[in-house]
Amino acid sequence: AKELGRNNLQIFNAQMAATAHEKLRRYEELREAVAREEFVLHYQPQMNLRSGKIFAAESLLRWQHPERGIVAPGEFIPLAEETGLIVDIGDWALNAACHQNKAWQDAGLPPIVISVNVSARQFRERDWVSRVATALAESGLEARYLELELTESLIMQDVPQAVATMHALEALGIQLAIDDFGTGYSSLSALKRFPVKRLKIDRSFVMDIPFDEDDKAITSAIISLAQELGMEVIAEGVETEAQLEFLRDNGCNEIQGYFFSRPVPAEGLARLISAD
Ligand code: C2E
Ligand code: CA
Ligand code: CA
Ligand code: CA
Repeated sequence: AKELGRNNLQIFNAQMAATAHEKLRRYEELREAVAREEFVLHYQPQMNLRSGKIFAAESLLRWQHPERGIVAPGEFIPLAEETGLIVDIGDWALNAACHQNKAWQDAGLPPIVISVNVSARQFRERDWVSRVATALAESGLEARYLELELTESLIMQDVPQAVATMHALEALGIQLAIDDFGTGYSSLSALKRFPVKRLKIDRSFVMDIPFDEDDKAITSAIISLAQELGMEVIAEGVETEAQLEFLRDNGCNEIQGYFFSRPVPAEGLARLISAD
């Protein structure tokens, strides 16, 4: 039994070493990618059902891997967050999104808001607010054309600190949205203190509409809540006409999802907004 135990332990250690080695290799590779700026942003339009127009686009990060091609964020953002590389990657994304939106405006396209995802690590950087101000100044983009998406769980980690940072961001004139709303545990009393313009209903609630009664109830409750608090509300992950109809019938007039468009490269979004 003792022998067996020792052997198992050896196997276990060998596996741990292999895993640690693999992780280190992935970290080095991602760090190289940051140095070489091997990233690109794709953009997914956000549609206002009342005007029938695209009013905004969410920027979504992709890694242009030299061998593997386009890599989705789900495959590298967790490691980037764990290792802190997300701070540099997020800075790159923020700057790229601001420059791109300004370039569209300079090309004479109808102005839209660009929304940028923010990770908890970035948000907690001491100089985060001034980095945002710098991105605006360097790109020349007016603050009202930038929106930051903060997840509900990011905000709830430290509510007083988050509220203070949110007020500083609001003072710059940018818009704030709460992403993945409904998946965290915002207390309603906390929610009303957030200087937030928009709630984004998480895709997990939209997915099974119109078949799941609970999801329908939750979705319409979030829409009412936003209206009561004087916030805008957008549904993400809208894929079908039935979902769109349910949302519209329940007072949600902003839609994002494959039903209208998948995330597309910058030229694709320019075509969508100019055709609008
Ligand atoms: P998210 O912020 O919730 O972004 C929405 C995700 O849902 C995107 O996946 C988008 O492509 C996908 N999506 C949009 N419409 C539909 C639909 O109708 N059906 C389905 N099935 N999916 C839809 P993506 O681009 O793979 O991004 C995944 C996550 O990676 C994002 O979730 C966000 O948490 C993170 N992420 C992406 N870009 C950035 C970034 O620049 N910074 C940070 N910190 N995180 C990012
Ligand atoms: Ca988002
Ligand atoms: Ca989301
Ligand atoms: Ca999500």
